[in-house]
Amino acid sequence: MYDVIVAGLGGMGSAAAHHLSSRGARVLGLERFGPAHANGSSHGGSRIIRQSYFEDPAYVPLLLRAYELWEKLERDSGRDLLSMTGGVMVGPPLSKTVAGSLLSAQQWGLPHEMLDADEIRRRFPTLTPEPDEVALYEARAGFVRPEETVTAHLQLAAARADIHFEEPMVAFESTSDGVRVVTAKRTYEAGELVICPGAWAPDLLADLNVPFAIERQIQYWFDPAGGVAQFDHSHHPIYIWENAEGVQVYGFPAHDGPSGGAKVAFFRKGVLCTPDTIDRTVYQDEIDAMAAHMATRIPNLPGKFLRAATCMYTTTPDEHFVIARHPAHERVTVACGFSGHGFKFVPVVGEILADLALDGRTEHPIALFDPSRSFA
Ligand SMILES: Cc1cc2nc3c(=O)[nH]c(=O)nc-3n(C[C@H](O)[C@H](O)[C@H](O)COP(=O)(O)OP(=O)(O)OC[C@H]3O[C@@H](n4cnc5c(N)ncnc54)[C@H](O)[C@@H]3O)c2cc1C
Repeated sequence: MYDVIVAGLGGMGSAAAHHLSSRGARVLGLERFGPAHANGSSHGGSRIIRQSYFEDPAYVPLLLRAYELWEKLERDSGRDLLSMTGGVMVGPPLSKTVAGSLLSAQQWGLPHEMLDADEIRRRFPTLTPEPDEVALYEARAGFVRPEETVTAHLQLAAARADIHFEEPMVAFESTSDGVRVVTAKRTYEAGELVICPGAWAPDLLADLNVPFAIERQIQYWFDPAGGVAQFDHSHHPIYIWENAEGVQVYGFPAHDGPSGGAKVAFFRKGVLCTPDTIDRTVYQDEIDAMAAHMATRIPNLPGKFLRAATCMYTTTPDEHFVIARHPAHERVTVACGFSGHGFKFVPVVGEILADLALDGRTEHPIALFDPSRSFA
C-alpha cells in the first residue's frame, strides 16, 4: 500500500512526486504517456519566469518561494534549468501588462525600472515600440526549461518512488481509509491521491464543477534576419508585449545555438479543443499572422520560419489556478486550471501539494485557487 498516488506526471505532478517522496512518503506516480512528453502543456524548450506579476499581486509570495526552489532544484539535479535574462513587460501605460506588473512590483517592493519608448529602443535594439508604449523592466525575469525540469523532478522522485509510465488512471474512489485507483493495468490502494491532470481535467475532475476551457496554443520558432547573435540574451530579454487591443505576445532570446531560432507565441488567442481533438498541424495562415504581428515590433525576428509546436492551456474563467483538497473526496488533492501561466510555479506547487496531501493544509497563500469560488 502506498502513502500517496500521484496521477499525472507533467510539470506539476512530477514536482509533487519529488516533494512527497523527499519527505519520506511512499509514492506511486502514474503517467498516461512517457517522461517529459510533448502531448500536454509542459514542452517547447522554454517558459517565462518573472516576479512583477500582472495577473495578481497575490501570486508574488509564491513566486518568491518558487525562485528559491528553482535554484535548489538546479543544485539537487545538477541540471541547467533557469536562465535569468531580464524581462520587459511592454505596452500602453494603462495596459494590464504594464500597469498590473507595476502594481505587483510596488506592492511587494520588487526591484524594477520603468522605461519609455526611447529607452526601450536604446537598451534593447531588437525591440521597436510605438512612441506611446512603455515597459517595466525586471532583472529577475528569464526563462526555465520545461522538459529538463520534468526530467529533473522525475529523476529525483524515482530515487524513492515507484514511477509508472504509459499507465493512465481510469477511475478513483474514496475508501474507508484512503483511495482506490484503477488504472489501465490494475488497481492500487493508497492513503492519499494527488491529481495533476493538465488538459485532462474536464474528464478526471468533472465533479469540481469548474468550467475549464482547453485551448490549442502555438509556439513559433523563427531564424531572425541577420542571425541569432543579436537575439542572444545579453541583447534580447524575455518580453510580454500588449497592444492597444489587449492582444499579448511573448517571446524569448535565442538559446539553442545558431540553428535553434528564437521562440514567440500569442499569450491567449487559443482555439477550443480537447486532448483527443487538438489539431497538431500549424497552418501557413497562422505563421503569416504571427510574422505580421511581429513585423513592426521586432522587425528582425520573423526572418525565416523554422518550426512550430502546439500545446494546450487549461483555462478557468478568471484565469486563476485550482489547487485544493477535493471538496467531494476527503483524501484527494487536485492541481489544475493553470490557465497558461503555471510553469514558473512548478516547484512551489509541488511543495504545496505535498503539504496538502501529508498535512491536510499549507502555509502558502492559496485562497485564490479555491475550486468553490464563484465563476459567475
Ligand atoms: C504554449 C504554452 C506556453 C506556455 N508558456 C508559459 C510561460 O511562459 N510561463 C509559465 O509560467 N507557464 C507557461 N505555460 C503554462 C504552463 O506550461 C502550464 O501551466 C503547465 O505546464 C501545466 O502543467 P500541468 O502539470 O498542469 O500539465 P501537464 O504538464 O500537461 O501534465 C499533466 C499530465 O497528466 C497526464 N495525465 C492526464 N491524464 C492522466 C491520467 N488519467 N492518468 C495518468 N496521467 C494522466 C498527462 O499525460 C500529463 O503528463 C505555457 C503553456 C503552453 C501550452
